[in-house]
Amino acid sequence: MTETTKIQQDIEILKQVQVLDKEIYDLTQELLSIPGKISACELLCEEAKKQVKDLEKQHKDFQLKQKEKELELSEKEEQIRKFQGQLTQVKTNKEYSAIQHEIASVKADNSLLEETILVLMDDVEKSARGLAQGRENEKQEEKKLQDQKAEFKKTEESFRKKIDELQAQKKELMNQVAPETAVLYEKILAKKSGVALVPIEGENCSSCHMTLRAQVVNEVRLLEAIVVCENCSRILYEQK
Ligand SMILES: [Zn+2]
Repeated sequence: MTETTKIQQDIEILKQVQVLDKEIYDLTQELLSIPGKISACELLCEEAKKQVKDLEKQHKDFQLKQKEKELELSEKEEQIRKFQGQLTQVKTNKEYSAIQHEIASVKADNSLLEETILVLMDDVEKSARGLAQGRENEKQEEKKLQDQKAEFKKTEESFRKKIDELQAQKKELMNQVAPETAVLYEKILAKKSGVALVPIEGENCSSCHMTLRAQVVNEVRLLEAIVVCENCSRILYEQK
């Protein structure tokens, strides 16, 4: 076998290998992106949990306020009863009307208190509904997270299996390539995002688009040696 045909043969094999490597690279990138995707789901779940905590606090605050106001009201009602008791014991009209006046004043306070309590009851009810919704949302986000984790695990397993298959196919092909060419290819592959072999496009490298020197283009066509792009270092070949 002459040197030209060996180079030609290696390039032909590397073209097939590059197809496999592109797929391996893409699958690997997908695998690498999975932890980030899981983190994003976890974050949504955390947010839903935090929201529930806030809603719980809001609901409790309204309940507490309502209780406070109810207590205040019952104290004032007790006050009225006391005044009414005093009414039976007063001796003068002046005292009588003074106490009546006190009772009227407390009653006015109480009617305001009752209004406040009604508003608070409404707040308690609304915040209870909000809390129930928040808890439902939290449950859904948790379920979504578990589902997505399970799905990612399945994806991960199938991708790893596929990568193993592709690697096995690649190994078989690489065994047929001249060792020094195989080493060069792997070195470029590792550095250049899974693309080590690219066709020329006219006078340009199709990967980095740099215009190649005429001599380089010539060498690529002659197939007497492995030629790399002077800019991006990838192995060049001519598409026929
Ligand atoms: Zn290039």
